[in-house]
Amino acid sequence: MATKRDYYEVLGVSKSATEEELKKSYRKLALKYHPDRNPDDKESEEKFKEAAEAYEVLSNKDKKQKYDQFGHAGVDGQGFGGGGQNMNMDDIFSMFGDIFGGFGGGGFSGGFGGQRSRGGRRVNKGSSLRIKVKLSLEDIEKGVEKKIKVNKYVTCKTCHGSGAKEGSDSTTCTQCSGSGYITQVQRTILGNMQTQAVCPTCGGEGKIIKEKCTSCHGDGIVKQEEVITINIPAGVADGMQISFSGLGNAGARNGVNGDLIVSVEELPHEDFERDGNNVCHQTYITVSDAILGTTIEVPTLGGKAKFKIEQGMTSGKVYRLRGKGLPDVNGYGRGDILVRVDVWIPKSYSKEEKKMLETLQKSKNFEPNPSAKEKSFFEKMKNMFN
Ligand SMILES: [Zn+2]
Ligand SMILES: [Zn+2]
Repeated sequence: MATKRDYYEVLGVSKSATEEELKKSYRKLALKYHPDRNPDDKESEEKFKEAAEAYEVLSNKDKKQKYDQFGHAGVDGQGFGGGGQNMNMDDIFSMFGDIFGGFGGGGFSGGFGGQRSRGGRRVNKGSSLRIKVKLSLEDIEKGVEKKIKVNKYVTCKTCHGSGAKEGSDSTTCTQCSGSGYITQVQRTILGNMQTQAVCPTCGGEGKIIKEKCTSCHGDGIVKQEEVITINIPAGVADGMQISFSGLGNAGARNGVNGDLIVSVEELPHEDFERDGNNVCHQTYITVSDAILGTTIEVPTLGGKAKFKIEQGMTSGKVYRLRGKGLPDVNGYGRGDILVRVDVWIPKSYSKEEKKMLETLQKSKNFEPNPSAKEKSFFEKMKNMFN
């Protein structure tokens, strides 16, 4: 067994840290190493578990006192799963559901945390519920709360999830004495080997239902329409999947809730096209405005912005409105709005206009006379970005 780090060190707090400070620090670490943000990352998972274990001990008065006095020896083997070594993710999520509430949106449906079996018994995990949400760029810019009607499995109200008919109740399985496992002894060339197998009588649940509940046919869950509220964080993008632990289908016979997996679908916007955290906009100005200079107004996400066009603007110039784009989903600043300004050339003109243009045509000043800088294609490209 590897040497354990000091719990205060893990959470980065002092021994005199308040309950609030502990919670804050743990929440920060939990979000950072959250499996949803670090899929298939073993190291993050270990860090996530390590933080959960430290918090589990330090947030409990008794355990904290023992730990302060005796160190790891004082609390090992007392925590869930024997001090964290065998702690599983579902345990962490069900124990500290409220911590994740702010991030996950709805957090947990509650109710199952205390009933979760800590022994070897099988707990039915509900299946994942997958839905799509359509979001405008404005929704994405701010983050949004969505109420969504879903058809999902919920705990049966008639039997409160047990699956047993009222009054009949379930009995402890006699083959496995309620453990859900049976031990088999096999003779091998190395001697007798003990193996554990799922109890065939109860299917690992440790209980047997005598008479099934008529509402749910013994499953303990029924399908029902429900409105769930989820918080979509700002900065998400098309195709992204956000997982909400515990908001999916209820597990059979008081099992653990599955997850809700939300796929983001970004709606097209009439003014903008997205490019990462930047949004791009295109607009036209008149020939005379390009020559004389002007101030133009462009839409932003949820507002408007004005900026100056300098005298003698080259068509196709791109202006950058810093920080007016989308926030980064991981909190790394904001993107910009890029506005490409083109000069509008009219397709037809009046007799009078023709006369004026012919005067300009003769003017020496209107003949192309680019500077060395303007002649350089590379410089021109650079100048496109203000
Ligand atoms: Zn039922
Ligand atoms: Zn059994």
